[in-house]
Amino acid sequence: MSETTTTTTNKPKSPTAHYRPETRLVHSGAIRSEFGETSEALFLTQGFIYDSAEQCEARFKGEEPGYLYSRFSNPNISMFERRMIELEGAEAARATATGMAAVTTAVLAPLKAGDHVVAAKAMFGSCRYVVEDLLPRYGIASTLVDGLDLDQWRKAIRPNTKTCFLESPTNPTLDVLDIGAIAEIAHQGGARLIVDNVFATPIWQSPLSLGADVVVYSATKHIDGQGRCLGGIILSSEAFIAEHIHNFMRQTGPSMSPFNAWVLLKGLETLAVRVRAQTESAAAIADVLAQHPKISRLIYPGRDDHPQAATVKKQMRAGSTLIGFEIKGGKAATFRALNALKVSRISNNLGDAKSLVTHPATTTHQRLTPEARAELGISEGFVRLSVGLEHRDDLIEDLQAALEKA
Ligand SMILES: *Cc1c(COP(=O)(O)O)cnc(C)c1O
Repeated sequence: MSETTTTTTNKPKSPTAHYRPETRLVHSGAIRSEFGETSEALFLTQGFIYDSAEQCEARFKGEEPGYLYSRFSNPNISMFERRMIELEGAEAARATATGMAAVTTAVLAPLKAGDHVVAAKAMFGSCRYVVEDLLPRYGIASTLVDGLDLDQWRKAIRPNTKTCFLESPTNPTLDVLDIGAIAEIAHQGGARLIVDNVFATPIWQSPLSLGADVVVYSATKHIDGQGRCLGGIILSSEAFIAEHIHNFMRQTGPSMSPFNAWVLLKGLETLAVRVRAQTESAAAIADVLAQHPKISRLIYPGRDDHPQAATVKKQMRAGSTLIGFEIKGGKAATFRALNALKVSRISNNLGDAKSLVTHPATTTHQRLTPEARAELGISEGFVRLSVGLEHRDDLIEDLQAALEKA
């Protein structure tokens, strides 16, 4: 068993790299111990023991491959990173403790006071906090734009803009931003594009192949997919990780736990089947909800009536496991419907085997002012549904019964 002391990379070329995604999700990155276990072993260890003081010295100097300390790396973290690298088509990756650790590290680590960031304003609440509130405290200015308006991106870029950041489809209103066009605008301005690909999943969208420079995930969502562990990952070129991420992670410590890495690694084995089944159910449910008299607005990236249907066709391989809809009658009617659900459960999470409904205005996006929410289309009746693995007819019957109560 050997491993470099630095970043997990895809070099030399992996023996599984030529397989199709489903095969890579099962086999890529596995490190087998001397016992020849079928299922990847769990290396629940903080540190590592050296044969000699000379070997220890050589490892610390980076002259000999091997692990040093689980804040830097660990066999389970390496396996998870390698499997994700091969799935995403990246050169290198670093796994993090949470999705927010991935976003914060990818955005913050490469920047210094005086730099500038442009981001699409429709994004996960905590991501917006990092860009809007946290960065400016350290002298890094940020501009929020309507991500759908390419002219706003162009105008927002300044000579000191180093990073553009977006999420697509957006949370929770499922707008689909043109990643290729925004990457081109960022590159013309000398900036990099970081894409939070959580809602699309690596199964349906590959931002690096569309021109993005860095992809981040909350592995907490579809990658675990069974509601157990928090985790995140940053994927990019080897140069970006080496120059900006590697040392920051080692010294500041937002590392993934080996146990979580093991759970997430096993989650990847079923990612493609889960996401495909959840997406098929979501498409069927969206078609039913679109016709429902108590629903005033339905947004589903897989439907032809999605406002950015052409962009969806261009950059995504399929719709989404998530649906957005607005229930008529405001907050009171919406809460009555949510409280009446028996199969889909009220939560703020997503990507789970269990179907989960969220009321963004009072949870994930309650930090925003009413005006900011209105601007994003997050009304008091807006609901985000993350479709799980239950039988789709049970989900449809449950939603129909609950909507009767709205
Ligand atoms: C959940 C989520 C995050 C944060 O991930 P955690 O694992 O909860 O820290 C970031 N971005 C998006 C789009 C998310 O859905």
